[in-house]
Amino acid sequence: MNIVLLGAPGAGKGTQAAKLVSEEGLCHISTGDILRQAVKDQTELGMKAKAFMDAGDLVPDELIIDLMRERIQQPDTAKGVILDGFPRTTTQAVALDTMLSELGRPLDAALLIDVDPEIIVGRLTSRRMCRECGAIGTAADGDTCKKCGGEMYQRDDDNETTVRNRLEVYEKSTSPLIDYYRGCDLLVTIDGDRDPEVVFVDVKSVLK
Ligand code: ADP
Ligand code: ZN
Repeated sequence: MNIVLLGAPGAGKGTQAAKLVSEEGLCHISTGDILRQAVKDQTELGMKAKAFMDAGDLVPDELIIDLMRERIQQPDTAKGVILDGFPRTTTQAVALDTMLSELGRPLDAALLIDVDPEIIVGRLTSRRMCRECGAIGTAADGDTCKKCGGEMYQRDDDNETTVRNRLEVYEKSTSPLIDYYRGCDLLVTIDGDRDPEVVFVDVKSVLK
């Protein structure tokens, strides 16, 4: 099973992906997580990507496509992948089609987790993330990760100004992918403005 998760920043892609990993054993690839790790490790990729990420802009397609071409060939992807944060532009989507057809592994579905932008601003500005394990929580959960005890922090790009720019970038560059996948007959839309557990019931029913 190879799945693309579509949806605005903060729609809940990472939350649903984490559930799919723990319940279905799929391999989760989040370009945002890979890039944040690269920034933390001060790799060449991380140093190139940081300024774009801090501004809420997209990292250039070439960097992301090179990164993904390599990642998708790792052995842990053989049973299926859940792609979170990639593709984010039509150029990336076309590159993904090529990568997958070279591997002989077609895409099964593109799941759009649909949430109203105004709800998203509130969600993202109160979002917190664990420094150690990447778990996602909210400001109301306190400073300690429920999973590993690590420190919960606010991502640099989860401030209101950057969030609004990320939403604009989403509208302009990423939302055209909705039509792209509708055209390939792969699009499934799920109402993301509900409790994550309820959303997950729909996500699982699509995968059956
Ligand atoms: P979000 O919460 O916005 O979905 P992510 O964690 O997926 O955030 O990504 C954080 C940032 O990493 C993005 O704002 C962007 O700068 C960069 N990024 C992640 N994936 C991509 C991609 N496929 N193409 C370009 N930039 C990306
Ligand atoms: Zn943690």
